[in-house]
Formats: sequence, structure tokens, C-alpha cells
Amino acid sequence: MSYDPNNVFAQILRGQAPCIKVFEDQMTLVFMDIMPQAEGHLLVIPKEPASQIFELSDNAAAACMLTARKAAIAVRAALNPPGMILAQANGSAAGQTVPHFHIHVIPRHSGEFLAPHAARREDTDKLKELAKRIIAAWPELE
Ligand code: AMP
Repeated sequence: MSYDPNNVFAQILRGQAPCIKVFEDQMTLVFMDIMPQAEGHLLVIPKEPASQIFELSDNAAAACMLTARKAAIAVRAALNPPGMILAQANGSAAGQTVPHFHIHVIPRHSGEFLAPHAARREDTDKLKELAKRIIAAWPELE
């Protein structure tokens, strides 16, 4: 699939669209999902322009998984959810809505339904507050 450089995550990477950043390194960026399916829902993206897993380089795939693992550990340390989903969709038939590869990190609580996918915009201050708590938990990983 050819890469659309105008997708919103590409704009975030170029600094042309805002994001609530949680973590960044040479190959990856982590930010709050603005329409979270649960409190603390993060997105992990590669800086490499790849729409789906099929186009992702081995290096970017490895970097994304390392960062996603750190993100999961930081979310668990910050919010203490009893469970966590890491998910990743390829193609609209699979539910992908943004054509830049990403891994969802979604905290889970028993008996709590997942909010609908990309449906309700969360309050920005609330997302910033959650991001602060997750960022504070991140250095403990190093
Ligand atoms: P998917 O549908 O698997 O491609 O996931 C895309 C995710 O990106 C959804 O969970 C959306 O809520 C989220 N999303 C869309 N636009 C933005 C944005 N500008 N900043 C942060 N998250 C976004």
C-alpha cells in the first residue's frame, strides 16, 4: 500500500499537527489516543513512513515492539490496570482508520467494556493529566 504523507500521524511526526506526547526516541513516538477506548490508551508509532505491518522494516518493527513494551510497563506502573491489550490493525477491513503503522496500548479492567473505537474525543486536560502520570512512571524502566 502506498504511503499517504498527509495522514494525521505523519503530520504529528512533522510537527504540523498536535499530540500529547509521552515518549520519543530515535525511531519511535508515543502519544495519547485522543479518542481512547479506555483511560490511559496510548499509541506507539514508528518514525519510518509505513502504512501497515507489511511495509515496516525489521528495525522499525523491533523498535516499535521495544517501545510498546516500555509503554505497557509505564501504563501499568502509573495506572495499575489488572490487564492490558496491545493491538494493531492493518487495512480498513481490519478497522484501521489512520494509514500509518501503530500499536495500541490499552489498559483493561475486568467487567469494563471497551469504549467504541475512535468514537469520542476525550477532554484534553484529562489526557494531559494521564500523560503526566505515565511519563513520571517511564524513567523507572531505564
Ligand atoms: P486505527 O483505527 O487502528 O487506525 O487507530 C487509529 C487511532 O488513532 C484511533 O484509536 C483514534 O482514536 C486515534 N487518533 C486519530 N486521530 C488522532 C490524533 N490526531 N491524535 C491521537 N490519536 C488519534
